[in-house]
Amino acid sequence: MYRYYGNLPPPPLRNYFTFFSIMAPYDRLGYWGRPTSTLDWCEENYAVSFYIAEFWNTVSNLIMIVPPLYGALQTFRDGIEIRFVLAFLGIAAVGVGSWCFHMTLQYEMQLLDELPMIYSGCIFLYCVYECFKQEKTVHFLLITILLGFSISVTLVYLQWKEPVFHQVVYGMLVSCLVLRSLFIVSWVYPNLRRLAYTSLAVFLLGFALWNIDNLFCSTLQSARKRVPPLVGAMTQFHALWHILTGLGSYLHVLFSLQIRITYLKHRSYVKLKVCAGHNMMPKSYSSVKGLFFTFVMFLFY
Ligand SMILES: [Zn+2]
Repeated sequence: MYRYYGNLPPPPLRNYFTFFSIMAPYDRLGYWGRPTSTLDWCEENYAVSFYIAEFWNTVSNLIMIVPPLYGALQTFRDGIEIRFVLAFLGIAAVGVGSWCFHMTLQYEMQLLDELPMIYSGCIFLYCVYECFKQEKTVHFLLITILLGFSISVTLVYLQWKEPVFHQVVYGMLVSCLVLRSLFIVSWVYPNLRRLAYTSLAVFLLGFALWNIDNLFCSTLQSARKRVPPLVGAMTQFHALWHILTGLGSYLHVLFSLQIRITYLKHRSYVKLKVCAGHNMMPKSYSSVKGLFFTFVMFLFY
């Protein structure tokens, strides 16, 4: 079934910020019809494909889907706690939601992108705040708080369709993660600084590009018209934000996984010395490195 813009009322305001209102004009017809999302990014709609509203913003989500799915599978196989499997699946869920959103620019799909960002952020929080607990313990109070928080944010956002609300909440979650990570590398495991700082730097670079894409949209669009299409694709900074935040999030899960494994290894080492018991470590201690190299391979091949 095809739907067209013809005879429809004018589309809603492109964005909520005045300075964002310089976004791409969606003057092309597309398979998914008139955008109903409250956000529309700088990439020109239906410029590459009739079936994909924002082509580069859509396909760039592969980086958020494939490596995390592998990470989840590997973590599950290695018998590592289920929270880390869920953390990887959380990134993949955001990737799938983001794919659907940028492909269709429909409001329901936008929710499928934005709400999993909050849910996966809560899982990340649980992982880094519970990393120094005994093996196989479950902190029901923290789970209840995070669940209550996720449900509240969902209910408010369904009523109050204000993207800034979502962005502020997500920013708060990321800030909590950063503060906790900085505490851990400053006071507990300084040897994990490189991994933590790399994750943070990659994420911040992505955030910088996200802002550039919003603020200098018209400049980027006119520059794209003067260069070959593939070179122009390199100026799709929202797509680069997907790639960098996908990598940053993946590295963050590896970081929290490494903290947990290091802690459990230390505990089982102490047990070994005291009780002459055997090592309780998950099967594959080296899996963190393996997962990292898988991601790097995915990026370059
Ligand atoms: Zn996006």
